[in-house]
Amino acid sequence: MYNFTFQNPTKLVFGKGEIAQLSTLIPTEKKVMITFGGGSVKHNGVYEQVIAALKNHNYIEFWGIEPNPEVETVRKAVALGKENEIDFLLAVGGGSVLDGTKLIASALANPGIDPWDIVLQRRIETAISYASVMTLPATGSEMNCGSVISCREKKEKYAFSTTFPEFSILDPEVTYSLPANQIACGLADIFVHVAEQYMTTAGQSRIMDRWAEGVLQTVIEIAPKIKENQNDYDVMADYMLSATLALNSMISMGVTQDWATHMIGHELTALHGLTHGASLAIVYPGTLITLKEQKQSKILQYGERVLGITSGTESERINETISKTEAFFRSLGLATRLTEVGIGDETINLIAERFNKIGVAYGEGRNVTGDVAKQILLNCK
Ligand code: NAP
Ligand code: FE
Repeated sequence: MYNFTFQNPTKLVFGKGEIAQLSTLIPTEKKVMITFGGGSVKHNGVYEQVIAALKNHNYIEFWGIEPNPEVETVRKAVALGKENEIDFLLAVGGGSVLDGTKLIASALANPGIDPWDIVLQRRIETAISYASVMTLPATGSEMNCGSVISCREKKEKYAFSTTFPEFSILDPEVTYSLPANQIACGLADIFVHVAEQYMTTAGQSRIMDRWAEGVLQTVIEIAPKIKENQNDYDVMADYMLSATLALNSMISMGVTQDWATHMIGHELTALHGLTHGASLAIVYPGTLITLKEQKQSKILQYGERVLGITSGTESERINETISKTEAFFRSLGLATRLTEVGIGDETINLIAERFNKIGVAYGEGRNVTGDVAKQILLNCK
């Protein structure tokens, strides 16, 4: 296990009716800007709960943070925030609203820097206070310092890190209104977050391995139950908490991380508008196929402990584990091949060129260069 420092300052407020706590969680002297997406919160009662809780607060609203939040939209929100001397942001929505809000908070604290330059510098130390009411379990953004922002003009999508949310409110009842496809993409995102921190080098930490395997097993167990009944509180509560635990640093203490699949997935979204989770369901099986020697011991461990694959030669078990992983994504109703979504060689070559040009190398072995990314994408056809 490597040395590490763990500090996660986000307060998690979890459960039915907890949105009402906003009234005391945000000090009344704050000038608040509430940020929203396209309007789902007006159809499921979330908006009313937020507004009722903030009846004694001084607030304005900013609407229109889109899925895969764009820097062009963030700039408008920053201008409104400056004009109104906002000193607290409350994101109400999915990971996109929260990620966009993280950049608004960072830009308001650093007025000399254009928001896209903040993204490009990859890390910023200061942001104004912000918090969230999370409505879509997927990204883990509610309890981490990461944010992923797109630039519409350049067709680029990059992650940067900033401060953590002060608090996040998670009420599983708000997930009852989620469209089935968003749930499928959310489950795929959670699964791949765990996999990118777990399916790396074997033998680094028993405790991290078992925590990660526990989240993977939970996701596999609840996926069909959610399909059966999306209004089952306890199932949706486990779904919601799995998303948070998958990406709040609880499963990555002292171990190496991969993230190649996410970085390739971001390119597919930037170039073709694929939903984030949908891009991962296509790329991840290809990553496992391409890197199966490097990840051999961990694939065998995951196959045995999570999927119950114990018979056959090592090579047979590895292949079965990879096909069962792909079958899991398909069972969610997601495509797992580039050809199914009409993406071909032109995009594969472009992504390889982009990676080679920037000189990046992802993966736990820092060996996923443009050329390896190309191999991965060819294995996703
Ligand atoms: P999203 O893009 O925030 O939301 C997708 C759609 O779901 C939106 O149209 C939204 O509608 C709708 N929605 C949200 N909650 C709903 C509810 N309770 N009922 C009905 N509809 C609802 O999806 P996401 O998966 O949470 O976020 C994806 C983004 O996060 C991507 O850009 C991805 O790259 C990024 N990401 C970030 C991290 C991180 O650590 N920060 C990690 C992984 C991925 P409205 O807009 O109308 O509300
Ligand atoms: Fe993700």
